[in-house]
Amino acid sequence: MISYGKQYIDQDDIDAVAEALKADFITQGPLVKKFEEELSKKVKTAYALGFNSATSALHIGCLSLGLGRNDILWTVPNSFVASANCALYCDANIDFVDIDKDTYNVDIYELEKKLKQARILKKLPKIFIPVHFSGQPTNQEKIWELSQEFGFKILEDASHSLGATRNNEPAASCRWSDMAVLSFHAVKMITTGEGGALVTSNAGLYSSALTLRTHGITRDKESLKDQDQLPFYYEQQHLGFNYRITDIASALGISQLKKLEIFVNARQKIASNYFSELSDIDIKLPKIESGNESSFHLFVVQFPQNLLQKKGMKKIYSSLLDDGINTNLHYYPIHLQPYYQARGFSRGDFPISEHYANSSLSIPIYVSLSENDQTQVITAIKKLFK
Ligand SMILES: *Cc1c(COP(=O)(O)O)cnc(C)c1O
Repeated sequence: MISYGKQYIDQDDIDAVAEALKADFITQGPLVKKFEEELSKKVKTAYALGFNSATSALHIGCLSLGLGRNDILWTVPNSFVASANCALYCDANIDFVDIDKDTYNVDIYELEKKLKQARILKKLPKIFIPVHFSGQPTNQEKIWELSQEFGFKILEDASHSLGATRNNEPAASCRWSDMAVLSFHAVKMITTGEGGALVTSNAGLYSSALTLRTHGITRDKESLKDQDQLPFYYEQQHLGFNYRITDIASALGISQLKKLEIFVNARQKIASNYFSELSDIDIKLPKIESGNESSFHLFVVQFPQNLLQKKGMKKIYSSLLDDGINTNLHYYPIHLQPYYQARGFSRGDFPISEHYANSSLSIPIYVSLSENDQTQVITAIKKLFK
């Protein structure tokens, strides 16, 4: 069975983890720092902080940006639920902006329209989370411009886009945002098992996120309220969490990060094969904006209405499965999840995301997907049209 995504682990990764297990410190040793340094170099931010998941990084990102009760956070419906849940962890309210029908990223015109309405209603968001869907960077220059006009903060969800670029700038560089989040879950661009990171070039946001990651505790001599204590003394000055990443996971992260360019190239090569082989059938392929180089965490195909009417999504999915291809949907719209519907959202609220979810599937794309496997995928898709 060929699945839609899969990690790539080689002997170097295994050796790196084994080595980390033999060290004096297996949780908060030197490898966490080293991984963070390598990450910030890669995405060109001043700072990076490792987390036990991107979900934790989103939560701490929101808290660092001051999100609290009665504040509003906006994101897109076409994302993993974590992009929205982080607002609710902070007791804030959540709303969504629909996606563009071709890039599947936030629709900038919808965003601007909604901001104008929200300004009149005095319901502007405090934070907007743009999601770099499938590995394609969002139009950050424009989102930044809007943030200046309407006064909101930007936390990029770059869980899909490590290794992607926009106008030769790495995704998650925070040049046009306040902070960005990366995910190292098994199927993402690189993996640490579970894991994530928060990156920023803002020193204040970094130091706030740093203490919140560890219970709100500080050991920094300068900022202690009680200066007359022994060296092991620490102070809890805020309410924080334990969202730390381990040295063991960081060892894997460092080793994986060395292969990022190879990973991205392999995925781009598979994508270009799909683009050329699937161009002669009536199927909608992803649109990559000019200036963007996607990391192709996902490759989504959208089926035409006549095929959907004839076969239905269930039949399309099971026909592909019968041919050994396990596809998936990214994502069932967040606002239609039962939990979110119970909060007042309903069908029809974000029609582009809903139409997308009714007609799209993510087909296999991962580093070790062989040419034979790719041909099997292409053949199975073409068969649907016969
Ligand atoms: C995977 C993912 C997350 C959550 O990542 P975890 O590391 O599993 O917590 C958040 N947002 C998006 C868009 C993702 O794809």
